This record gives sequence, structure tokens and C-alpha cells, in this order.
Amino acid sequence: MTAKRRIYCATTNPGKLREFKLGGAVAGWEVEPVPGLADLAAPEETGSTFAENAAIKAIAYSLHAPDGAMVLVDDSGLAVDALEGAPGVWSARYAGPDATDEDNNRLVLERMAGRSDRAARFVCVIALAQAGALLQTFEADVRGELLTAPRGSGGFGYDPLFFYPPFGVTLAEATAEQKLTVSHRGEALLQLFAFLG
Ligand code: IMP
Repeated sequence: MTAKRRIYCATTNPGKLREFKLGGAVAGWEVEPVPGLADLAAPEETGSTFAENAAIKAIAYSLHAPDGAMVLVDDSGLAVDALEGAPGVWSARYAGPDATDEDNNRLVLERMAGRSDRAARFVCVIALAQAGALLQTFEADVRGELLTAPRGSGGFGYDPLFFYPPFGVTLAEATAEQKLTVSHRGEALLQLFAFLG
């Protein structure tokens, strides 16, 4: 049996970490958080795009990986057509700096009240960096429709509002494995592991 190769990630979001680990396991990679991540100062996400913010974070955290190992970072979010792409890069903080997923979901539903165009997409950019240098970025999205009330208890973030027509359920009702086969993050991870060979 060949040993799994290891890559580090930098996320404090348990939902993202679960999906990184699952996507890595399928491709034969062990994905582990950068040691001591919780004690590192988070870089300011000053970019106006997912790609810029992913690169900022990947470059900063790659300086803390053991033995100059590669680090992957994801910047992602929900882009709603009828809200001109909001919450976008503000997805995690849509309802304020300390907003919970429930707060953010409530605000999206409020802003979408009475709107019939419910089309939305999740976007994910994964940036790969090593020793302070950006190596590559990988971008993917998945399209769906926003419901008018949350459904399901799996996933994280806006998943309970995000109805995925081919499955006939929200991404919070799908299993983690099902979600990863179609999601923005699953596709970006596939691109990353194909790049790594
Ligand atoms: P980031 O940590 O700045 O990239 O913020 C990502 C935010 O986008 C999360 O906190 C969620 O609110 C949202 N998000 C990203 N990916 C997903 C997903 O797969 N499902 C649901 N919400 C997501």
C-alpha cells in the first residue's frame, strides 16, 4: 500500500476542513491544518475577489507550514443573481463581523423576500502556496436556487437554503459525499489534486 501524501490547509471553518479531508482522502492525500493555526494572526482579506483573498491567505499561511510544505487555502461564498452577486466575498460576514450562519441565512432570506428570480451559485477558489510564493489557483462553481426557508442539517453556511435541482434536495440534505461530487469545493479540489499529480 502506498503511503498517503500530506498537504496542509489553513481554515478555521470546520465545514471546510471536513470537505478538504474528504476530497483529499478520495485522491490519496492527507489534508491537515497548519499546526498552531489558531494562534496565528489572520491576514486581512483586502481583496475584492475570491481569487485575491485566497492568494493573500495562502501566501501568508504557507510561511508557517512545517518543512516548507505546500498549503492550500479556499476563499468561497454565495453569489445571488438577484442581489448582483452578493453576499460574494462578504459571505462569512454578511450580517456583521460576528455573524453566525443562521444570521447570514436570515439576512439573505430578508433581502430575497418577494423575489421570484432565486438563481444563485457557490464559488470556490483554492490557492496553493509554498514558502510565501503562490503556485496556482483553482476556481469552480455550482449553480442552484435559493429556497424561502432553510432545509436540512448537514453541510454548513448557506447549504440549508441552497436547493440543487439535479438532486432534488438542498446541499444540507445531501450527504457530504454527494455534495462533494457536485460542489464548487469538490470541483476545485479535483483540479488541485490533478495539478499535484
Ligand atoms: P471565507 O472563509 O471567507 O471563504 O467564507 C466562506 C463563507 O461562504 C462561509 O462562511 C459560508 O458562509 C459560505 N460558503 C462557502 N462555501 C460554502 C458551502 O460549501 N456551503 C455553504 N456555504 C458556503
